[in-house]
Amino acid sequence: GGSALEWPARSYDKLLNGLLADGFDKESCYSRYQSAMYRRNAGRKPSVYLVTKLRRQEALQNRCGPGTVAYSNALEQLKSGKSSGIGSQECKYLVSISYQGVGNRILATASAFMYALLTNRVLLVDPSNEMGELFCEPFPNTTWLLPPEFPLTSYTNFSHDTAQSYSNMLRNKVLKADVDDVPAAQLPVFTYIHLHHDATQDDNLFFCDEDQRLLRNIPWLVMRTDSYIVPGLFLDMGFREKLTRLFPELDTVFHHLGRYLFHPSNHVWGLITRYYDAYLAWAQQRVGIQVRVFGSESNSPALLEQITMCTQKHGLLPELHTGVESIVRAANQKSKAVLVTSLKSWYSEKLKSMYWEHAVATGEAAVSVNQPSHEEFQHYGAKSHDTKAWAEIYLLSLTDTLVTTAWSTFGYVAQGLGGMRPWVLYKPENNSVVPDPPCGQDFSLDPCFHQPPFYDCRLKHWADTGKVVPQVKHCIDRAWGLKLV
Ligand code: GDP
Repeated sequence: GGSALEWPARSYDKLLNGLLADGFDKESCYSRYQSAMYRRNAGRKPSVYLVTKLRRQEALQNRCGPGTVAYSNALEQLKSGKSSGIGSQECKYLVSISYQGVGNRILATASAFMYALLTNRVLLVDPSNEMGELFCEPFPNTTWLLPPEFPLTSYTNFSHDTAQSYSNMLRNKVLKADVDDVPAAQLPVFTYIHLHHDATQDDNLFFCDEDQRLLRNIPWLVMRTDSYIVPGLFLDMGFREKLTRLFPELDTVFHHLGRYLFHPSNHVWGLITRYYDAYLAWAQQRVGIQVRVFGSESNSPALLEQITMCTQKHGLLPELHTGVESIVRAANQKSKAVLVTSLKSWYSEKLKSMYWEHAVATGEAAVSVNQPSHEEFQHYGAKSHDTKAWAEIYLLSLTDTLVTTAWSTFGYVAQGLGGMRPWVLYKPENNSVVPDPPCGQDFSLDPCFHQPPFYDCRLKHWADTGKVVPQVKHCIDRAWGLKLV
């Protein structure tokens, strides 16, 4: 005994106020029941309606998921290419394509799940890019991974020019959104929802009530997005009403769905707990700093200065002593563990030396700076690279205060899981100049939707969607992005 994986879970609320279903095999996924004891911030409470809805979704996933008669029938229908009558459509499906970095994939999957909840569809996740290796199964007694014999063999290559995309079907008059109650037999058996960041205004009609009425009766949807589209769903009036009932605190959508869906697999949980126990557990305060280096950016003294200015100005890290040092050990010395995540090691090495070579002004803080890995460059589809990224996102979510980089979904996932409003390092207009102010605290826990629609569905013309409803505002790190308040 003695390893972190075997700690008794004592009085922690393992099921997170009913968010998680009981009855899973503990050994298959240690993180599901152990995460509560690693989180100082117990998080927000889910509404009773959300908890009920999740249990109903689990029942649906069981009734219609892979291995059931309903699933075989739905596959047959998909193979035949014909949508039969409404009666045979008791189970409808949403397949979510998994691509891009770990942060993008998590936000995309959470978005797809939100849409599945709103539309009573079974969510099936494309197993590409290690989705099955990174995460435990979220639903009891069934799988959310799309089985290999899926008839749409090239679905992972679907893109804006796929003939069956929703916008192409509208353009080619295969579908007509403004006709009420199209008989189900005239509907296609599937359509592809293209919400990649290059989505056009026609693709974005997906966010309109009228189009949702049509999509409702199509048995299979395949969706591609690398974004957090939930703020867009809020523009649909039908969804808006349901979303506000499910989430009385609207900025907790990803906070709850993320904690519900994404449990690190045992291998990743080992990476997380070993690191946590060695480098973070002992500290009185833990500060997470995410330094996202995009592309081939070189080590930037301006970014280092931006980080120190931000953290010292807001009291996250102590200021350095400038005058004559008095080496007195304060009785109430506070310990701080700083967790830096980055593709590069330069920033954390600089911070570490800074707090070794200089005393701190208040004389009361011991500052320890560490970084789990420095992978140098972003790769795609490399297993140990992705498991480290997921472990580091999760470790950031276990800190008490968080600093993130503008535009990064990696940081959004950490803030949402942790239930924190992070200090966001603003994107500099010029990479050698520190922005003023260097950072600002986010107004919401929820992630930013980077490429939202700018369209008023009722007036049928351009509109600033950040001004349509008070619950959706523009993001602090991306002026044209949208997020829930
Ligand atoms: P985003 O690009 O910042 O929105 O975040 P993503 O997670 O979607 O994609 C970035 C990918 O680059 C990650 O999934 C990792 O593979 C890699 N990466 C970026 N920053 C880090 C980091 O701090 N640590 C590790 N281990 N990988 C990182």
